[in-house]
Amino acid sequence: MPSEETVLAPTKDQQHTVANVVSTTGVALHSGLRVKLTLKPAPVDHGIVFRRSDLSPPVDVPAKAELVKETRLATTLVVDDAKVQTVEHFLAACVGCGLDNALVEIDNIEVPIMDGSSAPFVFLIEEAGLVAQASARKYIEVIAPIRVESGDKFAELLPSQQFQVDFTIDFAHPAIPDEHCRVTMDLAPDAFLEHISRARTFGFSFEADMLRAIGLAQGGSMENAVVLDEYKVLNREGLRFADELARHKVLDAVGDLFLLGYRVKAKYHAFKSGHDLNNKLCRALMASPDSWRWA
Ligand SMILES: [Zn+2]
Repeated sequence: MPSEETVLAPTKDQQHTVANVVSTTGVALHSGLRVKLTLKPAPVDHGIVFRRSDLSPPVDVPAKAELVKETRLATTLVVDDAKVQTVEHFLAACVGCGLDNALVEIDNIEVPIMDGSSAPFVFLIEEAGLVAQASARKYIEVIAPIRVESGDKFAELLPSQQFQVDFTIDFAHPAIPDEHCRVTMDLAPDAFLEHISRARTFGFSFEADMLRAIGLAQGGSMENAVVLDEYKVLNREGLRFADELARHKVLDAVGDLFLLGYRVKAKYHAFKSGHDLNNKLCRALMASPDSWRWA
């Protein structure tokens, strides 16, 4: 087993993979089916690659922004006919834990939703342990602003030596006052683990009924989402943070940005952004080589 220092070494600027093979099972949010996820070590410069082990032959689906084909409700990667849905919460945990290279086998179409946050994946990666690899971690350093917009929504990356976030959601709701709709922080890995990783996804009870009627959100429940009606949070335990919803949008953005394949040195500034704009932002950055350099 790796030592405690090895497990907690993500700030070292080396690439890391998992020390051991570990598995978990959970429910898929949309299909409602049980999914087994197995995390395996991978070599340097491999990145995070999902493998649909239920297909014959198995299909590898790398966590790359250019493979994102659907962004409604979750971020979905597609290679040929093989899909991997809802990758963002797992990828955010990889960023927070300092995991660069891993093979992630799933035996169904969707990464399990677990409790709706990244925390169960953080525990899984910590259980596996991390090992430092003999190659430096590369960062994408943003050197000129890059911005995407849609109506009044926007997402932008601004030059910064630290990964910082400034995210505002527009959520006119009696249970979520305006002061809990904005998150600004430096997102060093330990800050992600402490302040962001436990923030759960959320939805409205009337939306859940509508989604179930069209075959989505079959696995959705108050076990894996914050559920609100018109007036209040319905979960008996309430919110994990007063601004849990805004923090979850930051969690989603951390996962979506890791589809660049590398961590970014930039300030992520967004208003009402979601998976669609986050993916457009990744693609805009990749299409603008003058806006970034390797660090
Ligand atoms: Zn999410």
